[in-house]
Amino acid sequence: MSILRLAIPSPLRRLFDYLPPENVDEKMLSCLAAGTRIRVPFGKREVTAYLSEVTTHSGIANDQLRHAIEILDSQSLLPPTLLALSTWAAGYYLHPPGEVFPALFPKRLRDGKAHLRIGEPAWQLSDRGAGLPAGALGRSPRQSEALAVLQGGAPVAASALASAGISAAVMRSLREKGLAEACTLPRQARPPANREALDASAEQAAVIASVLAGGAGFACHLIEGVTGSGKTEIYLRLIAECLDRGKQALILIPEIGLTPQTLQRFEARFDADIALFHSGLSDAQRYQSWEAARSGLAHIVIGTRSAVFTPLANPGLIIVDEEHDNSFKQQDGFRYSGRDVAVKRGQIENCPVILGSATPSLESIHNATRGRYQHHLLTTRAGDASMPALAIVDTRKLPLRGGLSAAVLEQVEQTLDRGQQVLLFLNRRGYAPTLQCHDCGWTSQCSDCDTRMTVHRRQQRLRCHHCGAQSQLPAHCPNCNSRELVFLGLGTQQSEEFLRSHFAGRTLFRVDSDSMQGREAMASLVAEINRGDPCILLGTQMLTKGHHFPAVTLVAVIDADALLFSADFRGEERMAQLLTQVAGRAGRATEPGRVIVQSHYPDHPALLAFTEQSYAAHARVLLEQRLATGMPPAGQLALVRSDCSDATVGETFLHTLRQRAEPTMPAGAMLIGPLPAPMPRRAGKHRHQLLLHSKNRRSAQQAARLIVAEAEKLPLRHALKWTIDIDPQDLF
Ligand code: ADP
Ligand code: ZN
Ligand code: ZN
Repeated sequence: MSILRLAIPSPLRRLFDYLPPENVDEKMLSCLAAGTRIRVPFGKREVTAYLSEVTTHSGIANDQLRHAIEILDSQSLLPPTLLALSTWAAGYYLHPPGEVFPALFPKRLRDGKAHLRIGEPAWQLSDRGAGLPAGALGRSPRQSEALAVLQGGAPVAASALASAGISAAVMRSLREKGLAEACTLPRQARPPANREALDASAEQAAVIASVLAGGAGFACHLIEGVTGSGKTEIYLRLIAECLDRGKQALILIPEIGLTPQTLQRFEARFDADIALFHSGLSDAQRYQSWEAARSGLAHIVIGTRSAVFTPLANPGLIIVDEEHDNSFKQQDGFRYSGRDVAVKRGQIENCPVILGSATPSLESIHNATRGRYQHHLLTTRAGDASMPALAIVDTRKLPLRGGLSAAVLEQVEQTLDRGQQVLLFLNRRGYAPTLQCHDCGWTSQCSDCDTRMTVHRRQQRLRCHHCGAQSQLPAHCPNCNSRELVFLGLGTQQSEEFLRSHFAGRTLFRVDSDSMQGREAMASLVAEINRGDPCILLGTQMLTKGHHFPAVTLVAVIDADALLFSADFRGEERMAQLLTQVAGRAGRATEPGRVIVQSHYPDHPALLAFTEQSYAAHARVLLEQRLATGMPPAGQLALVRSDCSDATVGETFLHTLRQRAEPTMPAGAMLIGPLPAPMPRRAGKHRHQLLLHSKNRRSAQQAARLIVAEAEKLPLRHALKWTIDIDPQDLF
């Protein structure tokens, strides 16, 4: 007796056994491949489940097993390599397989609907229609005529039927009689072509040659190239070579804001089908991209993090651009690293993986120096561009307006007068981070989080950027009724207000997640900026990440102090990456660029390192420190988090977990905590965490598995929400 072992969307870390649907032939079951969608009853609902394997024994007696309802696919829609990848990911990240499988499918298929190919709508005879004797529909001449056209057996395009005078209504009545069925004439993949490339510089040519010398099989390459060194040009050449081999290329990029720009460059170079994945797509568009990638129609697939799980008929190259970016790590639910999964995918698909960045993560630098990755360097900017000049402005005692010192305002003015663009970086949206009462000291605390609510002055609101809570901006202090309410600190809206009046008549764009809603907004802004007219760009990281604005020659970091005092072990790495990336927006074309960083701590080691050392040199110093302290990439971390409306239950749970798990820990693994989370209360929930530190990969995985197994046995688990985060990005 065959048993279907299934992954079912549920938070349980296990598979579920079912009997096959009642009417299904045993022989057919032996051909079912993993990944096949199957509808099953689950509790009181019907859900889409995913086949893991067909087996013959279950731990549960057969008369206790339920029957599946329907097998939805005649063959698995996923290539076996992608199944291997997701099985690995579920195991490595200790995430329920039933929540990993659905991530591989677009909504339509998760909902259990039929798989549709991309192509032209068409009709074909059903088995019943094919067996019908001629003249059986004598009384419906139109329908007889339609049957005659379809009699050859091959599907006929709906458009061809229409031009033969057979209407859609006629076809629908044939379908109702069970004689004809709708189908799709699959589109044929077309050969891609590429247009002329730039002349590669000597450095670019050397990198391209050495990547290609690595062959078409798996190898991981780290391209560490300073900002503006022309990494995209290298990607384009490697993709062209991949397409020449008849294979597909997958490109992962960090942010939605990058998509229009990246797409534009790719479209300019290739006459090829490009499938896009980003959060701005409708379900139908996402389905089209997915199916184009899966069927091999798309030559190039570009997407953010989750695109790493796109099925590909014919993968030949995987690129992760800005590989250091923390948006590659999913921060909730299935907490995978898109970059690390991409490297694993390259191994499984046996194709090269390229990680590119001007500011690689210490993990990747470590892998490159140990020889696990091949390391390629680009030390100069492409074309005629040179690296920008860097300066720190000591803002102590200086009058600041809109956050800017007189010296910087002067530079802004001059830059605009020269017809160039200015980029001002301030990583805080809203008007002011806090509202304070000058008389009694009250501050705008969020009632559900251990944080303050941000002032959004134009909307007259206080908003919590952590839980989304909102309230009216008060006119009086809620505590003492005083009218002396003051705005503490500076946000982009406040800076904007000052700059608009100070530089009246100049063009200014504010770019943050409040002002840029949706992909189209960013796309049209990027187009506007790239027209090159003088303007001030004021924004958060959304504005700086990876963009190429040739006319920007002045970059100012309005407030570096906010970046300097992170408690997290990655704080200095992040700071160095951020400053280098922001600075890297200046002077990317022929005009030289300047970067000014304002700080009250001009002698802070991180700022000195920024001005006196390259990122490459600084990163190596930071890496030595990490290795000396046993922190990643030297050791490995996992974080168990608890989230509970009760103040103490989470801590008790983690305490018990530690007591139970500790005696079983493998050598080299150590538990730290429980401790309150960096923000101990968020959205009304009390949060605690237990940290697992392991000296090496093997003990890390073994220890994490043991902890999860123990946690799943603790009765208290039902009283709270707990999660495990393997290779967490931020501890604090
Ligand atoms: P990166 O991604 O390394 O920051 P980009 O790929 O955005 O750099 O390239 C920066 C600029 O240099 C772009 O305008 C690009 O067109 C130009 N560029 C790249 N390679 C060359 C080359 N070989 N010759 C001339 N210009 C180049
Ligand atoms: Zn007050
Ligand atoms: Zn809140």
